[in-house]
Amino acid sequence: MDRDAILLTPGPLTTTLRTKLAMLRDWGSWDADFNAMTAELRAQLLAIVHGEEMHVVVPLQGSGTFSVEAAVATVVPRDGHVLVLDNGAYCKRLGKLATLMGRRTTIHQRAEDEAVSADELEGLLRADSSITHVGFIHCETGTGVLNPLQAVSDVCARHGKGLIVDAMSSFAALEIDARKLQFDALIAASGKCLEGVPGMGFVFVRKSVLARCEGNSHSLAMDLFDQHAYMEKTGQWRFTPPTHVVAALAEAVRQFNEEGGQPARLARYTDNCGTLVRGMADLGFEPFLKPALQAPIIVTFHAPSHPAYQFKAFYEAAKARGFLLYPGKLTQVETFRVGCIGAIGRNEMQQAVNAIGDVLSDMGIRH
Ligand SMILES: *Cc1c(COP(=O)(O)O)cnc(C)c1O
Repeated sequence: MDRDAILLTPGPLTTTLRTKLAMLRDWGSWDADFNAMTAELRAQLLAIVHGEEMHVVVPLQGSGTFSVEAAVATVVPRDGHVLVLDNGAYCKRLGKLATLMGRRTTIHQRAEDEAVSADELEGLLRADSSITHVGFIHCETGTGVLNPLQAVSDVCARHGKGLIVDAMSSFAALEIDARKLQFDALIAASGKCLEGVPGMGFVFVRKSVLARCEGNSHSLAMDLFDQHAYMEKTGQWRFTPPTHVVAALAEAVRQFNEEGGQPARLARYTDNCGTLVRGMADLGFEPFLKPALQAPIIVTFHAPSHPAYQFKAFYEAAKARGFLLYPGKLTQVETFRVGCIGAIGRNEMQQAVNAIGDVLSDMGIRH
């Protein structure tokens, strides 16, 4: 097949031809044209969360995790204490990076098939007044569970605690309104629901918080205070920018706005998710999560219990039909994941379901 496979993964994901074509030009990192593109992109990103009043957006080179690490390093003072609400793999990653950076870190674990709880958070903050910041994952991509952002933000605001939100897999698809929430930092990246290519992240930081962050970071390259100060002063990125990634993201954001912004993207992904879950149910597949907890981003399915099932063979057979699936991330139960995001719609989701049905027959699995 000379067509690219459809990526049913949570990033990198399938992008449009327009977005790919935007990468066919070389940009000078000092050049006024590139600086104008960066400035325009930053304004567009800020507008998506209505953050113009209270926040700035600081882009950073690297994968999404680089920006999570930079946000924690910049926003949490070295003597701060981070409470991580943990219901999955990306929460654990956040806890690990905060610990590695030498920030005092407490991890509060919950089952992976449940959302984190704002009520529990209330109790935890009451019980330990040394906690300064809460680390929270909006959509836990490890399972696909949607965590309660507004409720957690309200509790943090009431207790005067800083909130750091990893909104990597939800930003631009689920509603995030900086006017209704109170967060110190919120992190997302180019290669997720904005449907750009991977290579940069960006962090929305509350202006009043950033003003106090000088010298917090132990790292030169990950210091968002410096990155922001330099960008404001010169219009340039502090170190070599991912020029082609920026150009592709600017083009992807244009298409995002043409489509109708976040509500339109949510509607398309919700339709993708519904098409997938219904089609898979007809094939006998059961989602891992209860429907009420499922974000329309990525779905975890129980693997067939049939003895002929083996993920590797299943994956290869789906790939041969043009669809890349994603392995499960759970330790207790055998699962696999299917992403609903990217420049794909109902047709692609239906074709993916058909392909998976064919794969099951070929593997001799009656499910
Ligand atoms: C994708 C993702 C990240 C970043 O992962 P990278 O591999 O570093 O891009 C972080 N958090 C969540 C919830 C994600 O979905």
